[in-house]
Amino acid sequence: MPGRNFLFVPGPTNVPDRIMRAMMVAMEDHRSPKFPELVLPVLSDLKSVFRTKAGRTFVFAATGTGAWEASLTNTLSPGDKVLASRYGQFSHLWIDMAKRLGLDVQVLEEEWGTGVDPDRVESVLRADGSHEIKAVLAVHNETTTGVTSDIGALRQAMDAARHPAMLYVDGVSSIGSIDFRFDDWRVDLAVTGSQKGLMMPAGLGIVCASPRAIEASKTAGLRRAFFDFGDMMKANETGYFPYTPALPMLYGLRESLAMIAEERLDHVIQRHHVLASGVRAAVKAWGLDLCAKGNQWHSDTVSAIMVPPGFNGADVIDAAYRRYNLSLGAGLSQVAGKLFRIGHLGDLNDLMVLGALSGAEMAMKDVGIDIRLGSGVAAAQAHFRSTIMQKEKKPSAEERFAELHPEGVLND
Ligand code: PLP
Repeated sequence: MPGRNFLFVPGPTNVPDRIMRAMMVAMEDHRSPKFPELVLPVLSDLKSVFRTKAGRTFVFAATGTGAWEASLTNTLSPGDKVLASRYGQFSHLWIDMAKRLGLDVQVLEEEWGTGVDPDRVESVLRADGSHEIKAVLAVHNETTTGVTSDIGALRQAMDAARHPAMLYVDGVSSIGSIDFRFDDWRVDLAVTGSQKGLMMPAGLGIVCASPRAIEASKTAGLRRAFFDFGDMMKANETGYFPYTPALPMLYGLRESLAMIAEERLDHVIQRHHVLASGVRAAVKAWGLDLCAKGNQWHSDTVSAIMVPPGFNGADVIDAAYRRYNLSLGAGLSQVAGKLFRIGHLGDLNDLMVLGALSGAEMAMKDVGIDIRLGSGVAAAQAHFRSTIMQKEKKPSAEERFAELHPEGVLND
């Protein structure tokens, strides 16, 4: 089919031409004296997307799953108790990995469509007077259901319980797109991959570790080799890797970080919010529901849209792909067939999202879902236009005065 595929799965996401060009490099000696000029700034600039000064970044030739494994094996010992909430396929898979690695996982089951319940975590931690629980695991943005959890509130709950467990956060589909604050929330281990907010192909598993986590890695007893923090830190110190790094990916990462810095992370996050709100306006206009069970759970990177009873989300995805060259995300596990997902993260703008909404409308209509063609697109258009108008609105004299005198009117 001519024209570009509309890639609206929640990762991998569109790779901007600029990043693709940056990755088209000849191979080079990764032990040359020049190589650290690439590696050292990338490792330090990477901290900005985690919003950390204290954390240390690790880049593995892996994916998000590898980053999960690196975070656990470097900092925990066999039989350690771990507390994890499960509310989707990715929280499930991380829990499954922790169990397979020999950790003793206590699972808090949450309804799919919701996320971490800080109160429940707090009461479990309070009951753990002897501090046996070493780690609390949470998926910030559950990509299966389009749910974002409040990690700041989770941190407060852990503090309220006065519990010393370390905080592990999966930010695979949030970091670089949704507000994430490694230092403010005192996260100990955050993990992500290259193929979502960072707008690159899959192939990098990225970890950010707090000084406490680094300290824990010195005595942690789980087995590791490829993912060993110690080997990586030793080599990274001087700008090298303990093995052959994924060279083009490092060049891509440098470009990705430059693009995010140019747009400014705050703006990237705001842009994702506007795009997501447009998609949510469309869903409302279609008369459909999101899998997320309330505004507080809405994700700004992926919307999981329930299809009405009697329909199969897989048919919508099939029609969208075959007829309109639009890739939508499938329902996974418990929600297979019950929904389809629109990923709205990475290198995207208003018109691209409108294209996807238009394709989703046609595909839904094709399979017999009773929606009005154009209704969702119109709702999103209205949202995008009003956002732009608001942004371009000239400030009133009072607003200008207030901006110039934030301290208010002085009485003399
Ligand atoms: N965690 C979340 C929230 C994800 O969305 C994904 C993948 O989509 C993963 C982990 C696994 O990452 P990967 O497929 O890069 O191994």
